[in-house]
Amino acid sequence: MQRLNAIDRLTALFCKLPGLGKKSAGRLVYYLLGADASYARALSDELAALHRAIKRCTICGSFTEDDPCPICGDETRDTTLLCVVERAQDVRVIEEAREYRGRFHVLGGLIAPLEGMGPEKLNIGALLARVRKDAVREVILAMNPTVEGDTTALYLQKLLRESSVEVTRLASGLPVGGDLEYTDRLTLSRSFRGRIKL
Ligand SMILES: [Zn+2]
Repeated sequence: MQRLNAIDRLTALFCKLPGLGKKSAGRLVYYLLGADASYARALSDELAALHRAIKRCTICGSFTEDDPCPICGDETRDTTLLCVVERAQDVRVIEEAREYRGRFHVLGGLIAPLEGMGPEKLNIGALLARVRKDAVREVILAMNPTVEGDTTALYLQKLLRESSVEVTRLASGLPVGGDLEYTDRLTLSRSFRGRIKL
């Protein structure tokens, strides 16, 4: 068997990235070979720095270089509004819609019993503590409108019923089974304004 060379090794690594098959992975490798060597070097430096530079915000759980993150550290934001999202990248999507001026809480997943994902694996304890400590008046559940998103929203709604906080959920405009990440800014803004009380 032929020994793998650097092209094969990099192609195999790219293949593990979501959405990249062998063909497109190979195309990227040949693109890099054709481009200036300084580009490949800059790319490799940033890849190496990624896990070193980025950590989780100890307050909201989103990815950040500084802890607390710029959103949690921003005194001008409304601390009584808390938007709960599944993943750290959802924070960025909602920020880009520029509709929301409260704070965030990243769950780190959704309840999915069939995949062995129970509520104990999610960042829920910290959420309840924040609701109490920050005198939150409204919790906005911004999970995707999927079966797992609905299950998780229902679970959180029941937990939060014991506190006096108002619980709302993003509503109109979000396509059923859709993904926040692929929702356009306008639709997302409208979903925020039209959120429904649970
Ligand atoms: Zn934060």
